[in-house]
Amino acid sequence: MKSFAVVGHPLEHSLSPTLFNTAFKALGLDYTYTKEDVGLSELKLILEKVRSGEYSGLSVTVPYKEEIIPYLDELTPEAKAIGAVNTVYFSEGKVKGTNTDWQGFMDALVKHTDLKNKKILIYGAGGVARACLYALRKFKDNVFLTNRTEAKGMRLAEEFGVTYVHKNKLPDVDIFINATSASLNPKSKNELLVSEEQLKKVSTVFDLVYGEALLTKTANTLGIKTIDAKEMLLYQAIRQFEIFTGKEAPVEVMAKSIDLSY
Ligand code: NDP
Repeated sequence: MKSFAVVGHPLEHSLSPTLFNTAFKALGLDYTYTKEDVGLSELKLILEKVRSGEYSGLSVTVPYKEEIIPYLDELTPEAKAIGAVNTVYFSEGKVKGTNTDWQGFMDALVKHTDLKNKKILIYGAGGVARACLYALRKFKDNVFLTNRTEAKGMRLAEEFGVTYVHKNKLPDVDIFINATSASLNPKSKNELLVSEEQLKKVSTVFDLVYGEALLTKTANTLGIKTIDAKEMLLYQAIRQFEIFTGKEAPVEVMAKSIDLSY
């Protein structure tokens, strides 16, 4: 018997318990995966539960991917480069943190597109944009970054060695990645972020935020290929499952459990 949990707040809509419990059942593992919907002050205590063996691993989600770092004994190089942790596990007597979001993003992206010679625009400069930039580090000559707050975007572009572009002077690109939380805010919910003219020149849109927002709807209407944000969730969970259990994840059943075809 092993126990795992997702740590974050709020967690009502988290699909992680469904993904993991379905996978455990499919492999006949006597493991459980629950939710730890906690405040910041409780993070330390939850991590002590990893140290004591009460939890064998944790998924970490909004808003604690950065806040959890000071409580960990060690970070993997990718977690360090991204500056965020979404996976906690116990190994060699240490509570360690890693990041599988970048792999989830990349797995979903390459499943749908060939990146060779493609120009890619990332809109956003928050935590998830950092994971995307890390994932695309080998393609950085073809990656452009823009952000609402210019100074923040410019700093990030410089850090990852990509080209910063002003949001009103976007270049023509093949792949458009929305790494902003604009659609979650009622005030900016119906903003497209780019002009429809600009969008028409794109061949693939990957909106990382769940739910069919205006961007995906418009792209679908224009006949542009779209990638479901749930694919990133699925693939980061698959990598996490393998870290947690040392076993190959049952991808097909996991995909089905969150209504994705595989
Ligand atoms: P952050 O809060 O770190 O960053 C938010 C980003 O969105 C900033 O760049 C911010 O710009 C921008 N933004 C917010 N509102 C607007 C707006 N009205 N117009 C333009 N830009 C705006 O969030 P994260 O990077 O952690 O997450 C971003 C989204 O990605 C989340 O909504 C989350 O749901 C999603 N996500 C999806 C995952 C998946 O598996 N599919 C995994 C992780 C995250 P500024 O700098 O100007 O404030």
